[in-house]
Amino acid sequence: MRLKVLGSAAGGGFPQWNCACPNCRRLREGKFSGVPRTQAQLAWSAAPGEWTLLNASPDLRIQIDATPELWPSHANGARHSPIRDLILTGAEVDQALGLLLLREFHCFRVHATASVRKILTEDNSMFGVLARFAGQVEWHDLPLDRPFSAGGAQLEAIPLTASFPGFVSAKRSAELNPAEAAIGLLVSPESGGGTLAFLPGAGCVSDALLKRLETCDFLFFDGTFWSDDEPSHIPGITRSARQMGHLPISGAGGSLDRLSGLQRPRKVFIHINNTNPILDDDSAERRTVNDSGWEVAWDGMEITL
Ligand SMILES: [Zn+2]
Repeated sequence: MRLKVLGSAAGGGFPQWNCACPNCRRLREGKFSGVPRTQAQLAWSAAPGEWTLLNASPDLRIQIDATPELWPSHANGARHSPIRDLILTGAEVDQALGLLLLREFHCFRVHATASVRKILTEDNSMFGVLARFAGQVEWHDLPLDRPFSAGGAQLEAIPLTASFPGFVSAKRSAELNPAEAAIGLLVSPESGGGTLAFLPGAGCVSDALLKRLETCDFLFFDGTFWSDDEPSHIPGITRSARQMGHLPISGAGGSLDRLSGLQRPRKVFIHINNTNPILDDDSAERRTVNDSGWEVAWDGMEITL
């Protein structure tokens, strides 16, 4: 199974349109050792000509455009897409906005928790563009308590401690199952092969999860912030990385520390915020990450599961 990283940045991308932090500024000025990144997005193919999207980023249109495997085949007539399935790990704008970009009368399946489906399809009338005719988008409620299959892979939800997006009303949130707010995923090809753990937003790692990760071959982990106080330097944000549901990379109990004992998986940071110094190929923080056995995901990175 081929898996491609279409986007590796956190929400806002890199550079972010309204950000003048040292990273974004230096990138625009051509003085940065590193590459731009679009918002986090994965895609895999378990069979020729069939692709599954993992989330639907706001950058999905340009990500599809940058990936020839996702272009329409003209053998199939004027309209076609190899995209058959889409898994949503939450209802945040960064995870779901791209769904609206897939609206041009293409039929596909969306796998999400029941709560995420309700937020998008019952509370947001704009998602009606995906229900303009019978069978346009088929929604499948994904279970939290057992493995399920989608896109030629066996999948298992990893429950995360997270809240529903800020745009969901308190009344609606109270009606929904909090365990369904956001999930991580374990992905294994049905035809056999390795297992990928996808945890782009993780505020902590339990001992049980740590054990589970040691059985995986690839770990794509939350690389949002380098330090716990990094977001507090961003105007408008007063919370720490942990309070935002992101384990910082550095510091006591940070991901480098907490996951340092993992032997088996190839470890990759993804969902990297534009303020994070690891984006700079020449930074001391990037060297620390690489010296600790971690890679930093980039747009276009590909692995075989
Ligand atoms: Zn920035």
